[in-house]
Amino acid sequence: MKIGGLLKFSFINYPEKLSAVVFTQGCNFRCPYCHNPELVLPKYFRIGIPEGEVLAFLEKRRQQLEGVVVTGGEPTIQKDLINFLQKVKSMGYLLKLDSNGSRPDVLKEIIRLKLVDYIAMDIKVPLEKYYWVTDGKDYTSQIQESINLITGSGLDHEFRTTVVKPHISPQEDLPKIAQLIPKAKRYHLQQFFAHENVLEATLVDAANYSTQEIADMNAQYGIG
Ligand code: SF4
Repeated sequence: MKIGGLLKFSFINYPEKLSAVVFTQGCNFRCPYCHNPELVLPKYFRIGIPEGEVLAFLEKRRQQLEGVVVTGGEPTIQKDLINFLQKVKSMGYLLKLDSNGSRPDVLKEIIRLKLVDYIAMDIKVPLEKYYWVTDGKDYTSQIQESINLITGSGLDHEFRTTVVKPHISPQEDLPKIAQLIPKAKRYHLQQFFAHENVLEATLVDAANYSTQEIADMNAQYGIG
């Protein structure tokens, strides 16, 4: 596994669990609002953390930590993700996987092997707008298949959308996203924070939806 970062303790990445967060390096999407260019664009990659070092840390912290979150980048593009999850699971941890939903074949195998306890998937935009985050490539069937796999898995799960102004219209786009996830256990909208470190320079100074506007969107479209 190419591991670009390790957060040793987190109270927010796994709902209600004290967890460690493993950040994989590399992503097949190019979301303009991404806050982690150093995990996405090879020219910004830092020297990775050896997998053995991460596993040794997790082994040592078995008594203190409840869960491990594997996030990215995009974890499902890592060739040895399943092997890594098996090793972590065998230590007795609860596992949460964050994914952009582009690799339903990998998600299917992970679900079949019962390797994770929680899956979180971003739904970036309505299907017909996905080209905006994929560098023009068509991932619509994969996104739809991943949603179906996750909602049919029986696992705890959540979907989320970062609402970036003006690329996501609450009136036009959120109803279309809601139609994709009628069986979701949880869905929430999150605010985009303009940031020096976003992938697309034009978004560095972008205007945000306000906290109240996001709360209103969650009241209307949020689940759980
Ligand atoms: S926000 Fe987009 S580009 Fe960034 S890691 Fe997630 S899927 Fe990849």
